[in-house]
Amino acid sequence: MKKILYIDMDNVLVDFNSALNRLPNEMREKNEGHLDDVPGVFALMDPLDGAIESYHQLAGWFDTYILSTAPWDNHTAWSDKLLWVKRYLGASAYKRLILTHHKNLNHGDFLVDDRTKHGADQFAGELILFGSTRFPDWPGVVAYLHSHSIES
Ligand SMILES: [Mg+2]
Repeated sequence: MKKILYIDMDNVLVDFNSALNRLPNEMREKNEGHLDDVPGVFALMDPLDGAIESYHQLAGWFDTYILSTAPWDNHTAWSDKLLWVKRYLGASAYKRLILTHHKNLNHGDFLVDDRTKHGADQFAGELILFGSTRFPDWPGVVAYLHSHSIES
């Protein structure tokens, strides 16, 4: 049986900042400090470098899910995240998107996340902190997970 892997979206699969340059100036100024509440902003984001190839590789080795949080005050973020997953990850992510503010309630072996918020710090498996010194980018994460993908 494959091990279970969860992957976060914002600043892990998704380049959050890529959308901000695409917002009109007045909208950026009006929502300064809470840009994740701008309607439609999650539809404008590019994948992070290496994220798509890494996802497909990992999906071959693990039972892989996308585990993300959508802002409570931005209802379009919930559908934008679904559309993003369909557009960029396609069939290998079919019905594998989980949106939650309680990531620790999902059981599994690994969680790749750039933050410890929304229960990531209480995840029962191993938290791989994306963007940390140990795991600065996708190649390092993929290499580490590959060496831990086989059930021992
Ligand atoms: Mg994130």
